[in-house]
Amino acid sequence: MSYNNNLQTIEDRISKVAQKKGRDAADIHLVAVTKTVDVAAMEKLYDLGIRHFGENRADVFTEKVEAFADKSDIVWHFIGSLQTRKVRAILPYTHFLHSLDRKSLADEIEKRATQKVACFLQVNISEEDSKHGFNADEAVAFVKEQDYQHIEIVGLMTMAPNTDDEHTLHHVFQGLKAVQLEIEKLKIPNVPCHELSMGMTNDFEIAIEEGATFIRVGRALVEEN
Ligand SMILES: *Cc1c(COP(=O)(O)O)cnc(C)c1O
Repeated sequence: MSYNNNLQTIEDRISKVAQKKGRDAADIHLVAVTKTVDVAAMEKLYDLGIRHFGENRADVFTEKVEAFADKSDIVWHFIGSLQTRKVRAILPYTHFLHSLDRKSLADEIEKRATQKVACFLQVNISEEDSKHGFNADEAVAFVKEQDYQHIEIVGLMTMAPNTDDEHTLHHVFQGLKAVQLEIEKLKIPNVPCHELSMGMTNDFEIAIEEGATFIRVGRALVEEN
């Protein structure tokens, strides 16, 4: 298996779409989703230059953070559904929380945080029942009503439906972009909302076409092919 080849292929694909859309590839951050691999595999990715790591389970997240305690240049992303009682454990190590999906979670973060926490609001654009998050209207209402001191809403995140239908994928990512622009325009303190976390192995090129600034890629990076 060659992580190097996988990474090269992903970076080439990112550059190609960026060029096609007239975007700067440097504005698109690749978050390596390492939930299916161990620390040894992550060390290989680190040696290849990966600095953004994403995990979706609180216990594994803290274990891996501890394993890399000597690497101060890693940016840690928590991307999974987060139980309120796990907030305290992950907060000190989380550079970006991609899954702020409910008010009770925000309240708990506000209560526990001692400094600003960069969060993406998770928005369920496709409105599938199985997916977490605010719907579009709720997201706008939430940012207008909140007055948190420790939560910075840096952007929005979504998970697209598991489909190969490109039309649907474009539609979902455009939908997230529209909500992001609407919220950004409000210019609410602590709610810059410039970023879009969208796109995974199956759909990151479409997400980049529609404005993704953080893509979360697991399988394309770590699977053998
Ligand atoms: C697993 C996961 C990803 C990565 O998915 P791949 O299809 O492996 O690229 C991205 N985001 C979230 C929230 C995930 O749970």
